[in-house]
Amino acid sequence: MREELEELASKPRHVVAILGGAVSGSEAAVACADKGITAIVVEQNERPYGKIEDGLPRWHDKLRAKEYARIDENLARDGVYFVPRTKIGEDIPLETLTRDWGVSAVLLANGAWRDRPLPVEGADAYVGKGLVYQNSFVYWFNHYEEPGYDGPVYEVSDDAVVVGGGLASVDVVKIINLELYRRALRERGIEVSVVEMEHKGITATLKKHDIDPDSLGVKGCTLYYRRRIKDMPLAFPKENATPEQIAKTEGVREKMVGILETKFRVRVKDQHVPVSPIVEDGRMVGLNFRRTEVKDGRAVEVEGSDMEVRAELIVSSIGSVPERVPGIPTKGELYDYASWETGAVSGMPGVFGVGNVLTGKGNIRESRNNSKQVTGQVIADYLGLTDDTREEVVMDGAHEAARARGDAVAASAIRRAKVAPDKLKAVADTIEARWSASGYEGDYAAWLAAHKPSS
Ligand SMILES: Cc1cc2nc3c(=O)[nH]c(=O)nc-3n(C[C@H](O)[C@H](O)[C@H](O)COP(=O)(O)OP(=O)(O)OC[C@H]3O[C@@H](n4cnc5c(N)ncnc54)[C@H](O)[C@@H]3O)c2cc1C
Repeated sequence: MREELEELASKPRHVVAILGGAVSGSEAAVACADKGITAIVVEQNERPYGKIEDGLPRWHDKLRAKEYARIDENLARDGVYFVPRTKIGEDIPLETLTRDWGVSAVLLANGAWRDRPLPVEGADAYVGKGLVYQNSFVYWFNHYEEPGYDGPVYEVSDDAVVVGGGLASVDVVKIINLELYRRALRERGIEVSVVEMEHKGITATLKKHDIDPDSLGVKGCTLYYRRRIKDMPLAFPKENATPEQIAKTEGVREKMVGILETKFRVRVKDQHVPVSPIVEDGRMVGLNFRRTEVKDGRAVEVEGSDMEVRAELIVSSIGSVPERVPGIPTKGELYDYASWETGAVSGMPGVFGVGNVLTGKGNIRESRNNSKQVTGQVIADYLGLTDDTREEVVMDGAHEAARARGDAVAASAIRRAKVAPDKLKAVADTIEARWSASGYEGDYAAWLAAHKPSS
């Protein structure tokens, strides 16, 4: 066995297993390492960057580079074991972590990778046949220019329809129009990069090349949203906002949509919901939309207002939810948490959600802060590792239950026992097997150098 894995199993220690190595997983790992806790970061992909690499569109070049560097620094820390190309639930069952390894805690930092289904009956039968979901579409956009790319491939057709309204859907419509205008310019012998065109805007790019937009014959895509533009979840008022503050936020939303229309030539149709697919020859070739009225903040469908909208490409971008992992209880689309504050998963003592998987908010800062906060609570309240030097006592069942609820009073009274070497041997054996399977040699920097991200 490799030296660092022998060292891992050599003496009792606190060990936390973390699913996912991106913003929240790497932040949790470093919070553990800071307290002398060994962190095992299990990541399904070869690189750990999650939505930073595969979600955030690649024109966010500076932000991406900054986040990559931070994740790298966190995962290269002493006491952090990175296990790439290993999917919990497939390559390793969750019970291996909770039962066989008996780790001190398990942190779910696995984000939100399942697209919320388009609420149109039978729609999912047409995925890849006219209908595309946001996560794989953005993944394609971020990677398709890489040499050897072998992921999903999408043809961006003009006059596409996007169903959405949130921040990610704004990125989707921009991707479509950037691709369309780049193609149209290329046909005129003008080469532009989509990243540069995003920074400048489509309208300004065309102006720079002295091109009348209408002369290109590009219609561009249309974003359909179920409520009013001023309701779009693009900006959020703070809690207990006054009516004036709410009106200000609504103004920000309208301004953002205005920029989308003028700078990126996207059409936005609010107060429309898709109600049924239009299918021809086994393909989805459009959607029937119904008009809505907004009553008490809700979109209420207006009977008799249906309209047919045909499109060769329909992208559904109505939100992402956590992927199901066998063994994790769910409540509706989400994991079943006993407490949203502690992140404790119902009926699974020692298992907690951190970051996007818990907050449901697609936001880097929120994911990071939530991960830091929840991991800190787990270390202090669940593991009982405060900075004082109380004697170590093994927990009984009552404490176990109290800690699962995140009960700080019970938690502060006692420390959880370290993981014994025989269990740690099982942990080290599994890591060794996974490292061998992936070709990882235990050196994070060397691995990253050999598996570089595109930018
Ligand atoms: C189109 C788009 C645009 C965005 N733009 C912005 C923006 O401008 N600003 C902003 O702040 N935020 C933005 N976000 C959101 C932001 O990128 C995410 O909220 C944040 O990066 C989430 O971090 P996370 O670590 O919690 O989750 P993720 O980044 O999703 O990381 C989860 C990790 O877990 C791994 N994983 C999943 N399941 C398993 C498993 N079973 N076993 C092992 N590993 C697993 C994944 O591979 C991944 O690496 C955007 C998101 C999208 C989709």
